[in-house]
Amino acid sequence: MHRVVIIGSGPGGHTAAIYAARANLKPLMIEGQVRGGVAGGQLMITTEVENFPGFPEGVQGPELMELFKKQSARFGTEIISADVERVDFSQHPFKLYTDEQEIVAQTVIIATGARARWLDLPNEQKLINHGVSACATCDGYFFRGLDVAVVGGGDTAMEEANYLAGLCKSVTVIHRRSELRASKIMAERALKNPKIKFAWDSAVADVHDAEAGKVTGITLENLKTGKKSQLAVEGLFIAIGHTPNTDIFEGKLALDENGYIKTKPGTTQTSVDGVFAAGDVQDHVYRQAVTAAGTGCMAAIEAERWLAAHE
Ligand code: NDP
Repeated sequence: MHRVVIIGSGPGGHTAAIYAARANLKPLMIEGQVRGGVAGGQLMITTEVENFPGFPEGVQGPELMELFKKQSARFGTEIISADVERVDFSQHPFKLYTDEQEIVAQTVIIATGARARWLDLPNEQKLINHGVSACATCDGYFFRGLDVAVVGGGDTAMEEANYLAGLCKSVTVIHRRSELRASKIMAERALKNPKIKFAWDSAVADVHDAEAGKVTGITLENLKTGKKSQLAVEGLFIAIGHTPNTDIFEGKLALDENGYIKTKPGTTQTSVDGVFAAGDVQDHVYRQAVTAAGTGCMAAIEAERWLAAHE
């Protein structure tokens, strides 16, 4: 029987582990292998991280996750590499099943994160981190004074376009329809911004130039006329939404309409008493390593208090 089991090994999971381990709770972390990407989460596919406090010179994403892992291990977190295939939260203690083991837990902290949706363009994956990005807050700074494009018509796309307009020479928003999905206020802000142009009824057919190892432009297709055109940009931000890694929690925990785990406002408590959620799996708004770490800390403190009250 484990007192705290943490599912997921990004900044949220590791911060929860550091706090739980230092509270002498001997946490078990299941770091994930396949589902939702690699162990370590989204920072493992990021290059330079310049906005994580404490690293004035910046740090590589994988290096930062290695440091998180070392710090969790230093205080005695047990880490196993496996995917949780199934959970049983219908009775206490909770049960988690990997392909090889049944794990019994008094409290569970879910930090399985989310993954960005991509367009699946022929050259997109080759240019991720080389001009193609899914996070303007993370990467916008590298495109100061340059021309960039944002794909999507939702709140994220508008927010990213507005943010980038403050840094870049020009921003072209490419949307597949002629009407935005974004909330009125966010849409109006973008529509009024003189630095933001819109390519309506349009899709990106491909991004160039994989051979040069950097983005030099995109091929646009007008979905009404079928006409193709070229747009010279140095950055392409894909903002077509994220998918939270919550398939195994469907029907077991309350999820919102987009699949994110619902938590009680101001806490990490889920709809099941003793199950907590931290990081991007419960946050579609901020989605930063530092906010994931913050909620990971909250989840560990709440799990500790839960154990103190129930043991
Ligand atoms: P959304 O699902 O709201 O929007 C996704 C956008 O991408 C839509 O415009 C959609 O087009 C477009 N899209 C989806 N798939 C493709 C594709 N394959 N090719 C081209 N375009 C595509 O996601 P968001 O990330 O914008 O928002 C998620 C949630 O988070 C929302 O509830 C949002 O309100 C919220 N949010 C709130 C913020 C805030 O309040 N500050 C900030 C950011 C997000 P179409 O419209 O045609 O479906």
